[in-house]
Amino acid sequence: MNSAAMFDYSQCLRTKPRWAKVVCGALLATVLVEVTLPHAVVLAQAQVSEQIVLDMESIYEQEFTNRDAQIVQQTLKIVPKEYLSTLADITIGEEGHDVPRGRAHATKIIMNKTDIADEAEFRAVLVHEMAHTIDLGHFKGESPIGSPFMNDGRPIPIDDPSVDLYQITFQNSETVRPDVYREDFISDYATASVFENFAENFIAYVLQNDFFAQRAQQSPKLQAQYDFMLQTVFDGRKFTLDPTETYPVTVYDTTVMSYNMEQFVALLEAEPENRAMPAPSLLAGTGTGPMPSGSGGGGSGNNSGQSQADALRAALQARLQAQAGNSL
Ligand SMILES: [Zn+2]
Repeated sequence: MNSAAMFDYSQCLRTKPRWAKVVCGALLATVLVEVTLPHAVVLAQAQVSEQIVLDMESIYEQEFTNRDAQIVQQTLKIVPKEYLSTLADITIGEEGHDVPRGRAHATKIIMNKTDIADEAEFRAVLVHEMAHTIDLGHFKGESPIGSPFMNDGRPIPIDDPSVDLYQITFQNSETVRPDVYREDFISDYATASVFENFAENFIAYVLQNDFFAQRAQQSPKLQAQYDFMLQTVFDGRKFTLDPTETYPVTVYDTTVMSYNMEQFVALLEAEPENRAMPAPSLLAGTGTGPMPSGSGGGGSGNNSGQSQADALRAALQARLQAQAGNSL
């Protein structure tokens, strides 16, 4: 809502578990001992200059030579463009070890590469952050009746689709219900808040679908969360990546689980180039631009061209409305 409140909800860990932080801290301490102040300043300047800000228009329309930008552009294709319509830009930089690996809300995603080990983890953190944007930006309610869940100090409307997920394991934004157990969550980090739970479910559904499905068999509450991802978020679409390891009994943070990145990339590459864009046929029905005259008619020139276009437009509008209905 305002810049002060921008990231206050997302105490999004996005840093490593504590043991890793200790190691990082030790490494940093060693470096600091050896680096003189002028060098440190130069380093800081270098880090700032490496920051890139990708506005969404560029992401959807430009070809990038920067590898991180290419990865972002490709990874966003896991969801339709409208899911990220509130997102203004994505910033990628190096902010140091004390800053989370990723932060996000409805309009912004910030990636901090300092503690991100490799491309697989970069993609995983990005998927997690995308989930926050979709949760807060795309899934919205309009009811004046508030749910017990709060965002930015205001109750989330009771008809926000995400509330269906939140209420399975939480009684308010940060308090889990008394009748839930560790096995009812996809990861330990998912217990932090309803927002982290949404994001951890989302990433597990995309990158660890088989693991999620198997875990869900042991917990009706986790099964309900899996089903929410399947039906409400992904409209029946499953992501089936082959497992890369024996599944652990418990997971702290899904973004550091190994997954089959090769298959994930192949899956993204198989998506239409403009997966992030509405299909061209749907664009024609949105009324945001003129219908191309004679579209689909091959220039037949008969006088029913206009009425055909009107009929097509009406059909497309109905389809769009039906889709909007489904997503609520
Ligand atoms: Zn998060």
